[in-house]
Amino acid sequence: MWRRADLRLQKWSNFRYMRKGYTGDRSRISRGSIAFLLSVLFPCFIGVGVLALDVGPTNFVTVQIREPLSPRPTEMFCVDSQNLITLTTAKSSCPLSMRSLGNGPLFESATASGEVVELHPLLTARFNAAASFAAADGVTLYISSGFRTRDRQEILFAEAVRKYGNETEAAKWVLPPQNSHHPQGLAIDVNYPGDRPGALWLEKNGSRFGLCRVYANEWWHFEGVIAPGQSCPRLAPNALVDYTAP
Ligand SMILES: [Zn+2]
Repeated sequence: MWRRADLRLQKWSNFRYMRKGYTGDRSRISRGSIAFLLSVLFPCFIGVGVLALDVGPTNFVTVQIREPLSPRPTEMFCVDSQNLITLTTAKSSCPLSMRSLGNGPLFESATASGEVVELHPLLTARFNAAASFAAADGVTLYISSGFRTRDRQEILFAEAVRKYGNETEAAKWVLPPQNSHHPQGLAIDVNYPGDRPGALWLEKNGSRFGLCRVYANEWWHFEGVIAPGQSCPRLAPNALVDYTAP
Protein backbone atom coordinates (compact mmCIF):
# COMPACT_ATOMS: atom_id res chain seq x y z
CA MET A 1 0.00 0.00 0.00
CA TRP A 2 2.73 2.43 0.95
CA ARG A 3 4.68 1.54 -2.09
CA ARG A 4 1.73 2.48 -4.23
CA ALA A 5 1.31 5.73 -2.32
CA ASP A 6 4.98 6.52 -2.86
CA LEU A 7 4.64 5.76 -6.52
CA ARG A 8 1.70 8.12 -6.82
CA LEU A 9 3.65 10.80 -4.97
CA GLN A 10 6.62 10.29 -7.22
CA LYS A 11 4.49 10.51 -10.34
CA TRP A 12 2.98 13.71 -9.00
CA SER A 13 6.44 15.05 -8.21
CA ASN A 14 7.63 14.22 -11.69
CA PHE A 15 4.75 16.16 -13.13
CA ARG A 16 5.43 19.09 -10.80
CA TYR A 17 9.12 19.20 -11.66
CA MET A 18 8.36 18.93 -15.32
CA ARG A 19 6.01 21.84 -15.00
CA LYS A 20 8.81 23.75 -13.26
CA GLY A 21 11.15 22.95 -16.13
CA TYR A 22 8.60 24.16 -18.59
CA THR A 23 8.18 27.47 -16.72
CA GLY A 24 11.95 27.87 -16.55
CA ASP A 25 12.22 27.61 -20.30
CA ARG A 26 9.64 30.28 -20.76
CA SER A 27 11.38 32.67 -18.36
CA ARG A 28 14.46 32.68 -20.57
CA ILE A 29 12.59 34.23 -23.45
CA SER A 30 13.96 37.77 -23.87
CA ARG A 31 11.77 40.83 -23.75
CA GLY A 32 12.78 41.73 -27.30
CA SER A 33 11.14 38.60 -28.58
CA ILE A 34 7.83 39.20 -26.93
CA ALA A 35 6.36 41.50 -29.59
CA PHE A 36 7.45 39.08 -32.30
CA LEU A 37 5.99 36.17 -30.43
CA LEU A 38 2.72 37.94 -29.84
CA SER A 39 2.23 39.24 -33.36
CA VAL A 40 3.56 36.35 -35.41
CA LEU A 41 3.61 33.21 -33.33
CA PHE A 42 0.72 33.80 -30.97
CA PRO A 43 -1.81 32.09 -33.24
CA CYS A 44 0.56 29.13 -33.50
CA PHE A 45 0.80 28.93 -29.70
CA ILE A 46 -2.95 28.80 -29.45
CA GLY A 47 -2.96 25.93 -31.92
CA VAL A 48 -0.25 24.08 -29.99
CA GLY A 49 -2.07 24.78 -26.73
CA VAL A 50 -5.23 23.20 -28.08
CA LEU A 51 -3.22 20.16 -29.18
CA ALA A 52 -1.57 19.96 -25.75
CA LEU A 53 -4.96 20.00 -24.08
CA ASP A 54 -6.06 17.18 -26.34
CA VAL A 55 -3.01 15.08 -25.56
CA GLY A 56 -3.00 15.84 -21.83
CA PRO A 57 -0.21 16.04 -19.26
CA THR A 58 1.90 13.31 -20.93
CA ASN A 59 2.98 16.08 -23.32
CA PHE A 60 5.28 17.40 -20.62
CA VAL A 61 7.37 14.24 -20.73
CA THR A 62 9.51 15.71 -23.50
CA VAL A 63 10.53 18.73 -21.37
CA GLN A 64 14.00 18.51 -19.89
CA ILE A 65 14.07 17.82 -16.18
CA ARG A 66 16.53 19.87 -14.18
CA GLU A 67 15.87 18.71 -10.64
CA PRO A 68 16.23 15.28 -9.08
CA LEU A 69 13.01 13.32 -9.19
CA SER A 70 13.48 11.30 -6.04
CA PRO A 71 12.94 12.87 -2.64
CA ARG A 72 16.06 14.11 -0.88
CA PRO A 73 17.77 11.17 0.82
CA THR A 74 17.51 11.03 4.55
CA GLU A 75 20.50 10.15 6.67
CA MET A 76 22.27 6.91 5.86
CA PHE A 77 22.00 4.31 8.62
CA CYS A 78 25.11 2.21 9.23
CA VAL A 79 25.62 -0.75 11.50
CA ASP A 80 28.48 -2.81 12.88
CA SER A 81 26.63 -6.00 13.81
CA GLN A 82 29.60 -7.63 15.49
CA ASN A 83 30.16 -4.83 17.95
CA LEU A 84 26.51 -3.73 18.02
CA ILE A 85 27.33 -0.17 16.97
CA THR A 86 25.04 1.97 14.87
CA LEU A 87 25.66 5.28 13.18
CA THR A 88 23.66 7.71 11.12
CA THR A 89 25.52 9.89 8.70
CA ALA A 90 24.65 12.56 6.18
CA LYS A 91 27.29 11.09 3.87
CA SER A 92 26.27 8.83 1.02
CA SER A 93 28.23 5.84 2.31
CA CYS A 94 29.16 4.18 5.58
CA PRO A 95 32.63 3.79 7.13
CA LEU A 96 34.47 0.71 5.86
CA SER A 97 33.90 -1.24 9.06
CA MET A 98 30.14 -0.76 8.88
CA ARG A 99 27.32 -2.02 6.67
CA SER A 100 24.79 0.37 5.16
CA LEU A 101 21.14 -0.42 5.73
CA GLY A 102 20.07 2.25 3.24
CA ASN A 103 18.33 5.56 3.68
CA GLY A 104 14.79 4.92 2.51
CA PRO A 105 12.04 2.39 1.85
CA LEU A 106 13.09 -0.61 -0.23
CA PHE A 107 11.83 -1.10 -3.77
CA GLU A 108 12.13 -4.07 -6.09
CA SER A 109 15.70 -4.59 -7.22
CA ALA A 110 15.94 -6.82 -10.28
CA THR A 111 19.10 -8.30 -11.72
CA ALA A 112 20.40 -7.11 -15.09
CA SER A 113 18.16 -9.68 -16.79
CA GLY A 114 15.11 -8.07 -15.19
CA GLU A 115 14.46 -10.99 -12.87
CA VAL A 116 14.24 -10.98 -9.10
CA VAL A 117 16.04 -14.04 -7.78
CA GLU A 118 16.63 -13.31 -4.11
CA LEU A 119 15.75 -11.06 -1.23
CA HIS A 120 16.66 -7.41 -1.65
CA PRO A 121 20.26 -7.21 -0.33
CA LEU A 122 19.33 -4.36 2.01
CA LEU A 123 16.39 -6.34 3.38
CA THR A 124 18.79 -9.17 4.17
CA ALA A 125 21.23 -6.69 5.73
CA ARG A 126 18.48 -5.09 7.81
CA PHE A 127 17.29 -8.48 9.07
CA ASN A 128 20.83 -9.64 9.88
CA ALA A 129 21.51 -6.45 11.83
CA ALA A 130 18.24 -6.77 13.74
CA ALA A 131 18.98 -10.44 14.47
CA SER A 132 22.37 -9.50 15.98
CA PHE A 133 20.82 -6.95 18.30
CA ALA A 134 17.99 -9.36 19.18
CA ALA A 135 20.56 -12.06 20.06
CA ALA A 136 22.15 -9.61 22.52
CA ASP A 137 18.70 -9.42 24.15
CA GLY A 138 18.52 -13.23 24.25
CA VAL A 139 16.02 -13.42 21.37
CA THR A 140 16.52 -15.63 18.32
CA LEU A 141 15.22 -14.33 15.01
CA TYR A 142 15.05 -16.44 11.87
CA ILE A 143 13.49 -16.08 8.44
CA SER A 144 11.00 -18.89 7.92
CA SER A 145 10.12 -17.72 4.40
CA GLY A 146 11.79 -14.95 2.40
CA PHE A 147 12.16 -14.86 -1.36
CA ARG A 148 9.73 -17.13 -3.22
CA THR A 149 9.61 -17.85 -6.93
CA ARG A 150 6.41 -16.86 -8.70
CA ASP A 151 5.67 -20.57 -9.27
CA ARG A 152 5.96 -21.29 -5.56
CA GLN A 153 3.71 -18.33 -4.76
CA GLU A 154 1.15 -19.58 -7.30
CA ILE A 155 1.03 -22.94 -5.51
CA LEU A 156 0.64 -21.28 -2.10
CA PHE A 157 -2.14 -19.05 -3.41
CA ALA A 158 -3.99 -22.02 -4.99
CA GLU A 159 -3.76 -23.85 -1.64
CA ALA A 160 -5.15 -20.79 0.15
CA VAL A 161 -8.04 -20.53 -2.33
CA ARG A 162 -8.92 -24.16 -1.60
CA LYS A 163 -8.68 -23.54 2.15
CA TYR A 164 -10.62 -20.25 2.31
CA GLY A 165 -13.13 -20.94 -0.49
CA ASN A 166 -12.48 -18.02 -2.83
CA GLU A 167 -9.70 -15.74 -4.06
CA THR A 168 -10.70 -12.66 -2.07
CA GLU A 169 -10.71 -14.50 1.26
CA ALA A 170 -7.48 -16.29 0.32
CA ALA A 171 -5.79 -12.98 -0.58
CA LYS A 172 -6.21 -11.80 3.02
CA TRP A 173 -3.53 -14.37 3.87
CA VAL A 174 -1.63 -15.27 0.72
CA LEU A 175 -1.40 -13.00 -2.30
CA PRO A 176 -1.14 -14.23 -5.90
CA PRO A 177 2.33 -13.94 -7.50
CA GLN A 178 1.62 -10.64 -9.25
CA ASN A 179 0.76 -8.94 -5.94
CA SER A 180 2.83 -10.71 -3.30
CA HIS A 181 5.96 -8.94 -2.11
CA HIS A 182 7.75 -12.25 -1.51
CA PRO A 183 8.53 -12.91 -5.22
CA GLN A 184 9.64 -9.26 -5.40
CA GLY A 185 12.24 -9.99 -2.72
CA LEU A 186 10.70 -7.39 -0.43
CA ALA A 187 9.05 -9.45 2.32
CA ILE A 188 10.15 -11.86 5.02
CA ASP A 189 8.17 -14.09 7.35
CA VAL A 190 9.95 -14.16 10.69
CA ASN A 191 9.80 -16.89 13.34
CA TYR A 192 6.67 -18.40 11.75
CA PRO A 193 4.74 -20.35 12.88
CA GLY A 194 5.83 -21.14 16.39
CA ASP A 195 7.74 -18.19 17.85
CA ARG A 196 5.52 -15.20 18.31
CA PRO A 197 7.68 -13.64 21.09
CA GLY A 198 10.68 -13.42 18.74
CA ALA A 199 8.60 -11.69 16.08
CA LEU A 200 7.26 -9.38 18.77
CA TRP A 201 10.83 -8.24 19.48
CA LEU A 202 11.16 -7.34 15.82
CA GLU A 203 7.80 -5.61 15.82
CA LYS A 204 8.95 -3.40 18.71
CA ASN A 205 12.52 -2.78 17.55
CA GLY A 206 12.42 -3.30 13.77
CA SER A 207 11.84 0.37 12.83
CA ARG A 208 15.36 1.15 14.02
CA PHE A 209 16.60 -1.11 11.21
CA GLY A 210 13.95 -0.09 8.67
CA LEU A 211 11.77 -3.17 9.20
CA CYS A 212 8.04 -3.08 9.86
CA ARG A 213 5.25 -5.53 10.43
CA VAL A 214 2.65 -4.45 7.87
CA TYR A 215 -0.53 -6.57 8.24
CA ALA A 216 -2.67 -6.77 11.39
CA ASN A 217 -3.52 -10.44 10.73
CA GLU A 218 0.08 -11.58 10.07
CA TRP A 219 2.41 -11.09 13.06
CA TRP A 220 5.20 -12.83 11.14
CA HIS A 221 5.30 -10.75 7.94
CA PHE A 222 7.83 -7.86 7.77
CA GLU A 223 8.92 -5.50 5.01
CA GLY A 224 11.47 -2.70 4.60
CA VAL A 225 8.90 0.01 4.01
CA ILE A 226 10.70 2.84 5.83
CA ALA A 227 14.15 4.32 6.20
CA PRO A 228 15.94 2.97 9.29
CA GLY A 229 14.95 5.10 12.25
CA GLN A 230 11.62 6.28 10.87
CA SER A 231 8.28 5.27 12.37
CA CYS A 232 6.42 2.33 10.91
CA PRO A 233 3.09 3.07 9.27
CA ARG A 234 -0.17 1.91 10.82
CA LEU A 235 -0.93 -1.77 10.22
CA ALA A 236 -3.16 -2.59 7.27
CA PRO A 237 -5.97 -4.97 8.31
CA ASN A 238 -4.73 -7.70 5.94
CA ALA A 239 -3.01 -8.30 2.59
CA LEU A 240 -6.16 -7.33 0.64
CA VAL A 241 -4.75 -3.79 0.50
CA ASP A 242 -2.10 -5.14 -1.89
CA TYR A 243 -4.48 -7.36 -3.86
CA THR A 244 -5.86 -6.74 -7.31
CA ALA A 245 -8.11 -9.38 -8.81
CA PRO A 246 -6.61 -11.02 -11.90
ZN1 LIG B 1 4.73 -13.01 4.26
